[in-house]
Amino acid sequence: MLDYIIVGFGLAGMSLAEQLQKNSKSFVVITEEDKSSSVVAGGMYNPVILKRFTSPWEAVSQLEYAMPFYNAMQTRLGVNVVNPFPLLRVFNAIEEQNNWLIASDKPNLAPFLSPNFVKNDNAAIHADNNFGVVNKAGRLQVAKLLHSYKNELLSTKSYLQEAFSYNDLEVKKDHVVYKDLKAKHIVFSEGYGMKENPFFNYLPLNGTKGEVLIIKSESLKLNAIVKSGVFIIPLEENDIYLVGATYHWTDKTWEATEEAKIELKDKLDLLLNCEYIIVDQLAGIRPTVKDRRPLIGRHPEHKNMYVLNGLGTRGVMVAPTVSNQLFNYIENNTELDAEIDIERFSSGYNK
Ligand SMILES: Cc1cc2nc3c(=O)[nH]c(=O)nc-3n(C[C@H](O)[C@H](O)[C@H](O)COP(=O)(O)OP(=O)(O)OC[C@H]3O[C@@H](n4cnc5c(N)ncnc54)[C@H](O)[C@@H]3O)c2cc1C
Repeated sequence: MLDYIIVGFGLAGMSLAEQLQKNSKSFVVITEEDKSSSVVAGGMYNPVILKRFTSPWEAVSQLEYAMPFYNAMQTRLGVNVVNPFPLLRVFNAIEEQNNWLIASDKPNLAPFLSPNFVKNDNAAIHADNNFGVVNKAGRLQVAKLLHSYKNELLSTKSYLQEAFSYNDLEVKKDHVVYKDLKAKHIVFSEGYGMKENPFFNYLPLNGTKGEVLIIKSESLKLNAIVKSGVFIIPLEENDIYLVGATYHWTDKTWEATEEAKIELKDKLDLLLNCEYIIVDQLAGIRPTVKDRRPLIGRHPEHKNMYVLNGLGTRGVMVAPTVSNQLFNYIENNTELDAEIDIERFSSGYNK
């Protein structure tokens, strides 16, 4: 008998797989690949909210845990996927510089917000009021990491690429049976796909569509992430950048739209002073939750069934710690933080 079946292999499923590997648990992943927020993600990790210069939920502890977690994965898999970058915030007015300096004095933000502004010497970018520099930010190449992790799992026959058929799942008292697989536990980490999951679709996963552009510009020559109306993130290939992202709360389709392309292009044109071409456009749905906290925990009736979802807009930073919490909850009977425990939505569950 397996220890686990994991359904859905994005940042959530992969992080749990890593926790299981580290603890010598056996598992099989069952996943589709087409509707994935993780492969679209810019993959940025950034411990500061750059609109208001505040700290996101649990950012310091998440980052502290996430960096060694991903570094260990890249070393084991022999890939370069953790790319630290300075993050340059364009100041739109002098007043923003003052707000930045006030924020950089606060103990929780001081390690991240440099009080020394940087002069813009890149003629391809409009930034007359200098840049504020965020330290300890960067990019995780999520799609590349998922791909090499998948190859490792394929080599041990632990990866099945198929849609999970909920009707074929038999839930027994102390294990589950799915087709010819038998496991002690099953964990659902399907991102926005959870909407179709009859066991967990009572949870308030809203979903926020996001789109990005991939551009090529030979004159931009950027070796930092730049944030103004949009983020520009250097990708692995020379002269290729990701520009994003949009936020759309009502469109729940996975297709790229002309509307998003125009929105991103308009914002980019305010920031850039150079030629570029759009080479691709990608769309995904972020698994966002009504109260902006992850959805972690045990099914109200089925004791060997769990959910790992709701990573929201910051999956790169959030996934490692919450997968760790879920693992310890299942295996070591530790408590989940009330903030992330799906118990908080138990009143929405009808038997
Ligand atoms: C445009 C955009 C930009 C983003 N940028 C960033 C960023 O810079 N930094 C950051 O931290 N976060 C970013 N995010 C958010 C990030 O992508 C998410 O937080 C994270 O990827 C969610 O991971 P997940 O594993 O929960 O879901 P997903 O990545 O969506 O993975 C779920 C997987 O489950 C599979 N699945 C679903 N249903 C089934 C089923 N029934 N059977 C089998 N398989 C199933 C899906 O096909 C998919 O492969 C961005 C998101 C978007 C859309």
